[in-house]
Amino acid sequence: MNDQIVSTVAPDMVHKNLIGGRDIPASDGMMLDVLSPVDGALFAKIAAGTAEDIDAAVQAARAALEGAWGKLTATERGRLLMKLAAAVEARADELAALESRDNGKPLRQSKADAIALARYFEFYGSAADKLHGDVIPYLNTHFIGVERVPHGVTGHIIPWNYPMQIFGRSVGAALAAGNSTVVKPAEDASLTILRVSALAREVGFPDGALNVVTGLGRTAGATLAAHPGIDFLSFTGSPETGTAVQTAAAQNHVGVTLELGGKSAQVLFDDADIERALPTLVNAIIQNGGQTCSAGSRLLIQRGIFQEVVDAVAERFRALRAGHPEREPDLGPMINQAQQRRVLGYLERGRNEGLTVVGEGVVALDAPAGGYYVAPTFLAPVPHQSILFQEEIFGPVLVATPFEDEAEAIRLANGTAYGLVAAVWSRDAMRSTRVGRAMRAGQVFVNCYGAGGGIELPFGGFGRSGHGREKGFEGLIKFTTTKTLVIAHG
Ligand code: NAD
Repeated sequence: MNDQIVSTVAPDMVHKNLIGGRDIPASDGMMLDVLSPVDGALFAKIAAGTAEDIDAAVQAARAALEGAWGKLTATERGRLLMKLAAAVEARADELAALESRDNGKPLRQSKADAIALARYFEFYGSAADKLHGDVIPYLNTHFIGVERVPHGVTGHIIPWNYPMQIFGRSVGAALAAGNSTVVKPAEDASLTILRVSALAREVGFPDGALNVVTGLGRTAGATLAAHPGIDFLSFTGSPETGTAVQTAAAQNHVGVTLELGGKSAQVLFDDADIERALPTLVNAIIQNGGQTCSAGSRLLIQRGIFQEVVDAVAERFRALRAGHPEREPDLGPMINQAQQRRVLGYLERGRNEGLTVVGEGVVALDAPAGGYYVAPTFLAPVPHQSILFQEEIFGPVLVATPFEDEAEAIRLANGTAYGLVAAVWSRDAMRSTRVGRAMRAGQVFVNCYGAGGGIELPFGGFGRSGHGREKGFEGLIKFTTTKTLVIAHG
């Protein structure tokens, strides 16, 4: 789409790339339509970033490293991030409204994302000047200093499900560590990242420290992943694209962090506090319409309490309502029509497998007709061979499976290709600790569940969930490497 038909959306909803501190259209002038998942309506346009745009952004980032950005002290970088945190927090309502229009999530969730984004900048901003190296005892005639240094220019490929949070955890950490960054937001949800990046410019980040090129994955994303000027990559998204990104990174011999989703299990033993667990079991899959990498999408329930828990969860599912993000629904629409069809396709396959729906919510009567809504659906019992037990659906679909004993619970919980998050519900502290430690997951919760898992806590997976960790101090370390200086002094 070219500039001539840009007038179909409000002028402040036509967005350019941010390269070297300037708003720049795509090199060929092309733009992408942004449809709101709430009603399917066109409401914004973003630049369809090209290979030339990525190249310009990488060059701007390199120049920033060698210029004003690279000259700042760690404390100065930290202060800038803290200023940005304050600016984001002050505009949390505005950012939330924009996110809900762009991504479809309920307003309260968008607001929580904006507050979390501010907290990421605060966390990493305050850590910037606490990141220090080491002195190693060696020969008495030598002094050995090990310095923690940034990788250089880092590339960040962001998905559509939590744009603000994932931007915060990856770009916040990279900037705190002193890298300059090139960001490729998801084509389906770029707007809050563009807005926050404009705020970064306003609070005084030097030109080129933070560059944003919007556009398609197969063009802008693939060019960024393969660009020889990139020194480290952070990717969150699907396993298939993760493979492509890591393959591209390998050609340039640079490191990459991959966060690729999950099929996380919540295990309930027969001594669990069921009343306490119930709201969490439901929220863990309903939050963000199940479009959450760490969604609690499988319930494993000990045989003796299976029916009781299934009935209670089913009852809660029947009360759930998908609807317009501004009308306090339990969940909003799916991100786009393809995702809506994908989720409905899984439900169809479940029906073909003969699985039983035990609880189904509704799409609100006043949900806009053109939106991509899906009724939350709970199926039980679902055997472990089922595609619905094994594959990440990325929608509001929960499955429950009974188990007999501890050994079977562990086998089932670890019985998918993924390993991102898990939970154990039991009043027996020794058992929950034992089972928790046996889980193959990057984060394990006991008698609670943290979809997304906290700003301060390292987060990432095993197996098909990817590798490397973001969040917490470990996430900051990931955006650095070490340099050892050996000084002979006689
Ligand atoms: P995706 O992996 O294709 O997209 C994620 C990001 O990668 C986007 O910014 C996209 O533009 C970019 N991208 C796409 N192709 C690329 C390429 N060849 N090289 C470099 N970057 C590329 O995900 P999707 O198509 O938006 O969603 C598909 C499925 O992925 C979903 O249904 C869901 O199961 C999963 N997903 C997982 C997460 C997560 O948080 N782990 C997030 C989004 C989607």
